[in-house]
Amino acid sequence: MINLIIFGPPGAGKGTQAKLIAEKYQLYHLSSGEILRQEAASGPYQEKISSYLASGQLVPDDLIIEMVEKIADIQLSTLGTIFDGYPRTLDQAKSLDRLFSQKEVSPATVINLFLNEAEATERILLRGQHSGRTDDNLSIIKERFRVYHQETDSLLKYYQEQNRVIDIDGSPDIITVNATINEIIDKLLERK
Ligand code: ADP
Repeated sequence: MINLIIFGPPGAGKGTQAKLIAEKYQLYHLSSGEILRQEAASGPYQEKISSYLASGQLVPDDLIIEMVEKIADIQLSTLGTIFDGYPRTLDQAKSLDRLFSQKEVSPATVINLFLNEAEATERILLRGQHSGRTDDNLSIIKERFRVYHQETDSLLKYYQEQNRVIDIDGSPDIITVNATINEIIDKLLERK
């Protein structure tokens, strides 16, 4: 069983790649953005969450940690999981590591999908033409990048110090990026 985290800036292709990986390796795809968009459409925190999403700010840790870990707690017992969009802060990462150790499953390896801001912005604007997402517009995209950079350094450092990060160039087309990631996962599985 393998657990993965797909990490990277908005628009890097995390969701697309996570879906492909989950299908190929029979992993559970846990997307924090999808969970939040569902919660924003219905549920007790509907209004609160919608306003965070629409502004490009992170949802507070206590709220998102509880939501994600409730699902992860169940999934980690049965399937390997790919975390998409989560963790995004150091507290989320530390809390998730405690969960891995409680469940006695292997701590996730981090796939760091990197892409420069100009290219990522272009992709999100293209997606925004039909995504219906309130946050896929230029001013909010800028804010999402600001938030991303603010959290990234400490988060990546935390994982790098534990030798858990694999960097992947997110700029080639979907199939090429996917092939590169698959090779890496195959190697990780061989090591087990
Ligand atoms: P992207 O990575 O393209 O910005 P996501 O769907 O992963 O898109 O996230 C959309 C929004 O959901 C974020 O801008 C943020 O408001 C919220 N969000 C997603 N994941 C988290 C998280 N782990 N912690 C806090 N907020 C989150």
